[in-house]
Order: sequence, then structure tokens, then C-alpha cells
Amino acid sequence: MRTVQFERLRPAEILAEKARRSIVYLAVGPLEWHGPAMPYGTDPLAAWHAALLAARRTGGVVLPPLYVGTERERSAKLLRDAGFADDSQYIVGMDVPNNSMKSLYWPEEVLGVIVREYLRLLVAQEYQLIVLVNGHGASGQIVTLDRLAIEFSNTTASRVMVAMALGHFDPDDRDMGHATRLETSIQMYLDADNVDLSQLPAKPEKLRSTDWGIIDGFTFDGNPPQDKCVVYDPRDADADMGARYLAAGVDHLVDVVTRAYQAIR
Ligand SMILES: [Zn+2]
Repeated sequence: MRTVQFERLRPAEILAEKARRSIVYLAVGPLEWHGPAMPYGTDPLAAWHAALLAARRTGGVVLPPLYVGTERERSAKLLRDAGFADDSQYIVGMDVPNNSMKSLYWPEEVLGVIVREYLRLLVAQEYQLIVLVNGHGASGQIVTLDRLAIEFSNTTASRVMVAMALGHFDPDDRDMGHATRLETSIQMYLDADNVDLSQLPAKPEKLRSTDWGIIDGFTFDGNPPQDKCVVYDPRDADADMGARYLAAGVDHLVDVVTRAYQAIR
């Protein structure tokens, strides 16, 4: 294969690859605030690169990334856990009041309509396995994609699956955060110019989640650090770790896709 990128392939190439491995990947994620040091497309870019690397191993093709993702208003509990004094504020996703820009979040019903049309077209192309690679952890996004996967798998000749894009290379690593060390490392690996850590204050100053819109997995899980500051610090990121995080995610993706494809055939 010359490339796995669908948009760069000609019809005969797409059809030949489909005859060999009937798999197509679609990476999904929002244009979203990831702190001042990180690019807006962090989630879909990471998911798309994971899909490109996975497709080279499993076969199949990769659609251009879908820059669409959802968020809802934060709960009073999450706002308290993150360190906000006023837990009655209306804060959507990662858009804390201090941010210089808002994220481009779409309502769940709009994500549902867009992904539904992608699936309808890919079913019409007679793909046996359609893989939605999700780069974004919002619960509304996850249930929307899962619902469509179940519906299409049961009402069409295609199997549709959802897989998360990112993984851990160290089983003791608990970085499941937003714009923390893991995501920052991956962006550094993809393109050093994507990240500018000088946009953050120098250490040892701590990063308060309420100031920067950078939040640890501990806080999302209801176990926030006492000082409400980021534990998996993006300033500790490096490209080598990013390569290992991405490789762990790709290994997982290859594993679940390979098993799903073997189960069909
Ligand atoms: Zn992210």
C-alpha cells in the first residue's frame, strides 16, 4: 500500500485494499482547549495517528480525522473537586472562565447525526469492519458512539466497533487526565512544534486546575489531590514518553481490531 490515508487513495487502490482487508478507521475528537501550551486538535490528532499506525499493521484504510466532539456542563461535584469555590457555575467541558478561548463542542445529537451518515456511507461501501477511534473521554461522546456501533452492527452487514486511542506503557501510570503529561508527551512526539511549554509558568509553581483548564484523571474520578493542582504535570512531558504512550495505544488498537476482524471471517 502506497498509503493508508483514504483521501490520498484512488478508487482502484481503495477497492484492492478492501478486498484484502475490509477494515476502515475513523478517528473522532473535538477541537478543544488543552491549556495554553497545547494544540486545539490534540484529541483527534492523537486518535488519527494511532489509527494510521494501527492500519499499517492490520490492513485497511483511515479516513481523515473527524474534528467533532461533545461536552456537557460540569456537575457541582466535579467543580468542587477541581477547586472552584462556586459550584453553581455553568462550565461546559474544559472551558474554565480563565481560558483565553472556548472549545468547539458539538451537542451529542449532532455528533450522532454526523457519525450516522459516515456509517451509512461506509456500510454502502460494504466494509466488513468499521472502527471508530475515539480520542475524547466525554461520557456523552462515548455513549453516542457506542449506541451507533450497537445499532449498525445489528441492523447492517457491517460490524461497527468503538476503541479508545490512547494507552499506558507502565501499568502503574494513572495519567488519565486532560492536557496532562500523557497528552502533552504524545503531541511532542507527533510534532515538537505542537507544544510550547513556555506558555505555562516555570516550576516549581504548581498548576491549579481552575486557572489552566488542565485536570487530572484523579479529579475526574472523584479523588482530587488536596491542593487541587495537577499531579501528572505537562511540564514533565517528553517526546520519548509520547512515542511509548502512542505505541501502547496502537498495540491495544491492533489487538482489539484483529480479534474483531477474525471473529467476522
Ligand atoms: Zn484531550
